[in-house]
Amino acid sequence: MLDKLQLKDRVLPRVRIAAAAAAVLTVAAASGCSLLHRGEVKAAVIPPVQHVAAIQPLDLTKVQPNEAGTIPVIMYHDIKGTKIHGLQYPIAMFKQDLQWLYDHNYRPISLTEFVQGKIDCPAGKSPVILTFDDGLKSQFNFTNDGKIDPDCAVGIMDAFHAAHPDWSTRATFFVLTDEDPTKPPPFYQKAFAQGKLEYLVKEGYDIGNHTVHHPRMNKLSDDRVLAEIAGGVDGIHKYLPDYDVNTLALPYGYFPKNRKLVVQGESGGVKYHNICAMAAAWRPVPSPMDKAFTPYHLERIQAGVAEHESAWWLNELEKDKSQKFVSDGDPNTYTINAMASGQLDKSRLQSMHFHLRTYNGTQLVASK
Ligand SMILES: [Zn+2]
Repeated sequence: MLDKLQLKDRVLPRVRIAAAAAAVLTVAAASGCSLLHRGEVKAAVIPPVQHVAAIQPLDLTKVQPNEAGTIPVIMYHDIKGTKIHGLQYPIAMFKQDLQWLYDHNYRPISLTEFVQGKIDCPAGKSPVILTFDDGLKSQFNFTNDGKIDPDCAVGIMDAFHAAHPDWSTRATFFVLTDEDPTKPPPFYQKAFAQGKLEYLVKEGYDIGNHTVHHPRMNKLSDDRVLAEIAGGVDGIHKYLPDYDVNTLALPYGYFPKNRKLVVQGESGGVKYHNICAMAAAWRPVPSPMDKAFTPYHLERIQAGVAEHESAWWLNELEKDKSQKFVSDGDPNTYTINAMASGQLDKSRLQSMHFHLRTYNGTQLVASK
């Protein structure tokens, strides 16, 4: 059920993790969603970061931020069973993932905020972005008595948040809509679809577009591509009329021949504008202020234990912590070691009204 990704024509962001180098392109970074084939949903309206009055103080003897580091975006599909099988990922392993991430100082952040440069993560912690494709029942299931199944992904994340209040309820669900009447509704329980989507937004989760029919977009005409993306927006709007559907995950990671269509377009009277487009795999993404940041081709990491899957990449980041993004705790400021300053896109920082702060050792070098 897995599809190999089309890698050859990618724009690959610069990542300096040595072990990753050449071999990766040949990796069966299998992924993409193949279990279901349907529409899509979308999410969160997060206003751009505004000017701020002052940079928040920071004790560099305690926190050594690295806001030029990389961030893992993990891609999950079906959370069920006891073994990894295709896109099925065991419930127990998902629970273990959350605990491992927490214990290794990761905290989840919103994808939509991340793309807009706003890293809302405590000082000294590293952001992680969790994503779920296809709107599967195992991601968000209600039991017969109308309660959230404690073993579905949402139930597990909610419980983890309750036990660890500094772990926020943040994740993106690239759901399929029921624009195609032969397909199941988002999360497979029609009677609960509306309530589930409303619940996700209320709790701070994001909802993203995954198209209507889950096609390989590289095979489609421009008109069909437009119809798939706009149709995904329309399908989400039937449940959440005011929701800003502005993130897109390409089915199987295949981009349309005309890549501009992932940014904006219109079909059937429905306009769309995406702030990012997600590939299917395979490595951590650069800081949103890195010159190599490519919001319309954001890599993800397949959940799993094989080479270049999530356990492998997270272990790589532990072996070379200099690659990890470490937050300064201030969403309006980017704090980096002076040695990394050449890596950042200064004009982007400026145009988005972020402060930049550089340091050597425990001494601030510059703030502006
Ligand atoms: Zn999919």
